[in-house]
Amino acid sequence: MFDDSASPSTLSPNELEAVYAISNAVASVTSIDDALDEIIHLTRPVLIFDNIVVYIPNTDGQLEPAYARIIGRGRSAQGDLDWGGMIATEVFHSEATTSRVEKLSDWQSNRLSLRLLLGLPLRSRQQTVGVLVFGRFGGPPYVPEQIHLAEFVAIHIAQLLVRQQLVAQVANLQAERRLRELQDNFIATISHELCSPLGFIKGYATTLLRDDISWDDSTRREFLQIIDEETDRLRELIDNLLDSSRLQAGTLRMQIQHLRLDMLLHELVLRARHRFQDLSIELNPIEFQVQADPVRLTQVFDNLIGNAVKYAPGSPVMVDMKIISDNAHRSCQIAIRDQGRGIAPEHIERLFERFYRVPEDSEKVHGTGLGLYICREIIRVHDGSISVESTVGQGTTFLISLPECQRIPGE
Ligand code: ADP
Repeated sequence: MFDDSASPSTLSPNELEAVYAISNAVASVTSIDDALDEIIHLTRPVLIFDNIVVYIPNTDGQLEPAYARIIGRGRSAQGDLDWGGMIATEVFHSEATTSRVEKLSDWQSNRLSLRLLLGLPLRSRQQTVGVLVFGRFGGPPYVPEQIHLAEFVAIHIAQLLVRQQLVAQVANLQAERRLRELQDNFIATISHELCSPLGFIKGYATTLLRDDISWDDSTRREFLQIIDEETDRLRELIDNLLDSSRLQAGTLRMQIQHLRLDMLLHELVLRARHRFQDLSIELNPIEFQVQADPVRLTQVFDNLIGNAVKYAPGSPVMVDMKIISDNAHRSCQIAIRDQGRGIAPEHIERLFERFYRVPEDSEKVHGTGLGLYICREIIRVHDGSISVESTVGQGTTFLISLPECQRIPGE
């Protein structure tokens, strides 16, 4: 065991130069992997070693090799990191720099069987967070200056580990907070979305049932129409909830079949014109065949067109098809463009998350934030992709790519 106070004063000019280069390099990298690459590059001219491994305790407290580089002799032992395990455990418990010489039975004839190991604790202020092990095959032994240099490297790697742990902790906290926010939003959104159609249905049904007022036919019809529409909304909401949880669990059944995408889009556009009387919607069709579930694919495009109507009211909608050839593969990119007010960049990244809604829309327009999540999952099952491009004040374009299926039915 060694005195563990690393002091650059005992180092040669060459080693000192390496020490400063290492300290600069390690301070500027962000991952242990990059740090190890830098350290190997800068340390090897002054500290000969063949292997370097960082061991970190797992959740059970057992040390595991987390980062390793095998560079010199013993390269064939790439997968076998056991050689450093024993010294790592010893150093982890003793918290002291330790060197050991291991001689396998054939060490005199095989240099690889003479192993000089140097283990160094990786310490944060409060505890040992891991162990750094250098391995050298066939000698010579480590001299004290080299051990000091190795200790200096260990201090830097320990700092990096602590920094990474902090980053991971912050990310976990952020993820937890996001989840809590999502759950709160979910309960608020769903109860609001469930209650508002229920309120209409109950209100108009109760009104119609009143004995003291007799309604003329057209008023009765109007009330019944509202009840009918609100029931559809309720059903759509429950269907969306069920679809989204089935998609998440991977249990949504798909009826995949061979179909003409341009025909499906053509019918869809006709239906949209019928459904939204004031909507101006055009399609540029190109003949294209896909393997898809027509009901689910229709659901995706219905949702995107419905969104354009909801969030870009009064805007024309364009559905463009474009063939993209990539080596032997062809796919079709379908763009659904509106000229609405667009989506600010800070929302784009989260738009396909479950329950995510642009906050300004949440108060004004009905919705649950499930639609785009469902679209993304359905498209994913079809081996396709979906993305969005938007410019505030100019409009939004949703882009869907689907791979081509060349098989002709019946062949
Ligand atoms: P919902 O419409 O139920 O809120 P979606 O998942 O379909 O859920 O959409 C998520 C959010 O994306 C919407 O709340 C809206 O803020 C935004 N968005 C979707 N489509 C458009 C569009 N065409 N233009 C502007 N904003 C849109």
